Amino acid sequence: MINIVLFGPPGAGKGTQAEHLKEKYGLVHISTGDLFRYNIKNETELGKLAKSYMDKGALVPDEVTIKMLNAKVEDHLDSKGFIFDGFPRTQSQARSLNQLMISKNSQINSMVALEVEDGVIVERLLERGKTSGRKDDASEEVIRNRIKVYYNETEILKEFYKKEDKYFGVNGVGSISEITQRISKLIDSLYKSSI
Ligand code: AMP
Repeated sequence: MINIVLFGPPGAGKGTQAEHLKEKYGLVHISTGDLFRYNIKNETELGKLAKSYMDKGALVPDEVTIKMLNAKVEDHLDSKGFIFDGFPRTQSQARSLNQLMISKNSQINSMVALEVEDGVIVERLLERGKTSGRKDDASEEVIRNRIKVYYNETEILKEFYKKEDKYFGVNGVGSISEITQRISKLIDSLYKSSI
């Protein structure tokens, strides 16, 4: 298995890139944000709980998020590997993901981080909010809170993966296809023989 954490602040383009990469490499894309939105749409208990946090731009508690993620991984153990998008977002989630992978005789191979400045991100998210129907993209206050949460709780994970020599930064500014090419070049150079 090749397992990649696609990382970056909200609006960095993780979801868009993950969709292209999953096709190209035959990996399973798991987005915790998409899973929560699916649960909200279907009015499940998990959805109701997640909504109260998401609408404010806050993180859903680790315990709930980890349980949901683990169940999704269990569903796809026969796959070539995973692209994790929006997970992990806290140190506790990162530790839990490592444990999960070890328990499957696998590992996280790399963190690929999309690098985009804050100004660009706010613009992108406000633009996306016009059509995405996402409540958390519609207000600048919520967007700024999501960016704040990213810097306070999530960005530190770069250090977590740097310590394991698994961190790779990629310029996240440009056209969608340019960025896909940059990431693909990196993935090809790292895993050419095994993917
Ligand atoms: P995203 O689609 O990745 O931008 O996530 C949208 C929202 O879902 C976030 O602002 C959080 O409220 C929630 N969420 C997604 N992934 C996680 C996670 N790994 N941990 C906690 N909350 C999450």
